[in-house]
Formats: sequence, C-alpha cells, structure tokens
Amino acid sequence: MSGADWVPVAPPGVGHLRGARPFPQEAAAAVTDRTLRSNLTGATTRIRAKRDAAVSEVADWEQLREAGAAIKDDVLAHLDTYLLRLEEQVTARGGTVHWAADAAEANRIILELVGAAGAGEVVKVKSMTTQEIGLNEALAAAGVAAIETDLAELIVQLGDDWPSHFLVPAIHCNRTEIRDIFRRAMPGVDPELPDEPAALAEASRRYLRDKFLSAEVAISGANFAVAETGTLAVVESEGNGRMCLTLPRTLVTVMGIEKLLPRWADLEVFMQLLPRSSTAERMNPYTSFWTGATEGQELHLVLLDNGRTATLADPAGRAALRCIRCSACLNVCPVYERVGGHAYGSVYPGPIGAVLSPQLTGVAANPTLPFASTLCGACYEVCPVAIDIPTMLVHLRERAVAAGSEPAAERVAMRAMAWLMASRRRWAPSLAALRAGRLLGRRPPLPPPLSAWTSSRDLPRPPARTFMQWWDEEERR
Ligand code: SF4
Repeated sequence: MSGADWVPVAPPGVGHLRGARPFPQEAAAAVTDRTLRSNLTGATTRIRAKRDAAVSEVADWEQLREAGAAIKDDVLAHLDTYLLRLEEQVTARGGTVHWAADAAEANRIILELVGAAGAGEVVKVKSMTTQEIGLNEALAAAGVAAIETDLAELIVQLGDDWPSHFLVPAIHCNRTEIRDIFRRAMPGVDPELPDEPAALAEASRRYLRDKFLSAEVAISGANFAVAETGTLAVVESEGNGRMCLTLPRTLVTVMGIEKLLPRWADLEVFMQLLPRSSTAERMNPYTSFWTGATEGQELHLVLLDNGRTATLADPAGRAALRCIRCSACLNVCPVYERVGGHAYGSVYPGPIGAVLSPQLTGVAANPTLPFASTLCGACYEVCPVAIDIPTMLVHLRERAVAAGSEPAAERVAMRAMAWLMASRRRWAPSLAALRAGRLLGRRPPLPPPLSAWTSSRDLPRPPARTFMQWWDEEERR
C-alpha cells in the first residue's frame, strides 16, 4: 500500500485530554498564562543545558543515533516476526500474552485480570500507554482505584489534572502549587506541609509506601521489550518501579507493539541514548528488567495496537514509531515552551505528539496538530533515534489540506494568497502596498481575509525592491 492510498484506522479515544479544544484555541489561552510560561521556560531551559552537556561527553553520539534508528527500523520492518518471538519467549517463561487491537479491548482485558485478582486498588508505574487508553477512567468505572506511583504522575492525579510532559508530567506546576495539591488531596498529609522539595517527596513517600505494601495488582508500562529473551524493561528515577514490579502478586504490563528490540545486545545502544536524552544522566538511577513470571507472581503482557499498524502502513509517517519517549524534542521546541503540553489535547504532547497523535487517531480527528510547529528543525537535531519530525509534519499538513481539514486561518490565507499571486495585475499593487508600509517603518496590517494569517504571526518586512525591479536594474547596468 502506498502512502497516497493509505486510509488510517481511527481508534476511539486515543489519549484525548478531557474537554480539550483544538490546538489553536488551547494555545491562545496558554500563552497568556504567565505562571505557566515561567514554569515551562525555567524547566526546559535547565533540562536543555543539562542534556547538551551529557550528550557532548559521548564522542560517537551520531553513530549511536544512527544505530538506534537502524535497530528501530529493523523492528518496524519485521514487527510481526519479532512480536511472535516475544510472545513465544514470554509464554515459555511462564507469562501470558494478550493482544489488544484498541483501547476498549485493552481495558477489557485488564479489568478481567484485576477482577480475577479480586483487587479494589492497583498501583501503577510508567503508564503513558495506559493514559492513552484511558485505563484509570475504565478502572474507576468498575470501582477500582488506580494509584500513580511516579511522583509527578501522582501530583497530576491528585490535582485532577493531566500530564503535560513525558518525563516531567507536572512540569507546568511549581512547588507551591504542588504543596497546595498535596494539602488538598493527599490523605493523611500534614495540613502545614511546607513547599520544600524534600518535604514534598517525603509526604509522597509515606503515602505510597502503604500502597506498595498492600497492592495485589500492579500495572506497568515498558520502555523496551526484548524479543530474543522475552525480557521487559522499565527505566525510572525514583525506585517506585522496583516496588511495583516486585511486590504485588499480579503484574500486568501494557505496552505499545512498537516498543520492541530484537536482541538483548540492542539495549547497549538504547541504555546510552535514553538517559542522556531524557534526564541528562550518564545512566539512570533504576533500571528494572524482568523475564517471565517469578515464583509467587503472575505476569501478564498486554500488547497494544490502537492505531500503530495503521501508522506503520504509511511509509512517510512510520518513523514516528521509533520514538522512545525521551522528551528531548519537547524541551527544545519553541512552541511547546510557550504553550505547554495540555494545549496539544493528547497524552502525547510536543513535536512528537504533533505527528504521533494525528497518525494514531487519523488526521481528521486531529487536523490542527500538524500545524503546531514552526518547522525550525530543533526536534530532529536532538532526537536520539533521528526522527525527521519536520518532514513528517509537512506530510501530515498535506494530508490535512487534501482532506480539507486544515485550520481555517491557513485555508483562508493560502487561498487568498493564491488568488493574489495568480495575476500580475493583482500581485503588483499588493506588493506596492506592502512596500509603502515598509517605507512608513512598520509592518503593514493585512486586510481580511489575510488578517487571519497575520493575527497570530509577524509578517516579514517586504524587501525594498521586487525581484523584477532588481532584474531590470541589473539589466540596465
Ligand atoms: S521523537 Fe525523538 S526526541 Fe522526541 S520523544 Fe521521541 S525519541 Fe525523544
């Protein structure tokens, strides 16, 4: 199948944030929020500087990037083979593999497993995929409480909020806001809790310790799954992953089908790429590997499609499935830094979200996200698996335009420009008017309908001469 005749499957509800409006409206509101801007700018500036320093220590970083991209492309080219090998290995080591075509099927499988364990509460770790499928809501509807155990995930859960960053889900909150959330929503917390980081961490530790010790079921995501050995891996910084993975009697891991690595040896590449790109560390504090079920614990692996095979079918878009969710592209994106993660209306924000979400849901369900970029290329430069996000964005814009679902401002402005430029009699006086504005020393306001474009963008100053004038002058010399 070619990209041209590819028709995406639109699975229901791929990680849409509650009540989210299209990106232009959400972004317009977000840029006026000074606290949000301050929180984001401070955090992304710090993370960027640290990541640059960590990456510059590695002499063969570009070769590592190429190796990471090549391994992931091999996985995507032979996904069926590697998935079956993974299933074989997990099953041979006492685990059970479940296949979920979409969010509804994944939630149904997990609810049955939780019900079979008789659990009224589950603990969770590394759960972006479960946010994609709306698992917490499905569990709540069945009377099961889901407890997030990553500190930042816990903050957004207690705040009845949504993550806005892969690595720092509460990046939009400062410590005073976090203290207020804990005082308001954390059971048993000191009403005089200060906003000191150590005190906040201690409060969450005390709260979670009981949950770890009493939980019958844990639900985890996975950073990687090794087809050769059936090994699953979680990379984290707080030790909560180790607690979740080892203590409960039933462990359910939910993983997108693209998280595979063919061989154990491939981890050597990714365990260098991921920590330096995400937390800017040479190695991360906690890396947990588990291979099959251990004595006294059941292991279930839920392999989730939910739009991924449709994404794989598009040759121009499939490289988005290389993503290892390191968040480096978010931290360098000038759009993300100004509007934050919630504006994208998806659990996958930032540049990769702008290409992944429309592909998982179908462009028609997310038509404005491919336009949420300046195409500056910073995301491509930092991506540890060399995903060419800008080219992909242009490809998705073409598809949005072909479907007639691009943002209205773009449609109106581009049609008006096409009409003006189609005739020299219309274009020449338009240019003269623009140049007159330049001579007046200001950027000329454009009349409707072109004002739909310039209401949110700076119009470049027109040159003093047109190309034709320059050419005529050159000829006369
Ligand atoms: S697209 Fe690249 S930089 Fe962005 S999160 Fe994925 S792997 Fe990281």
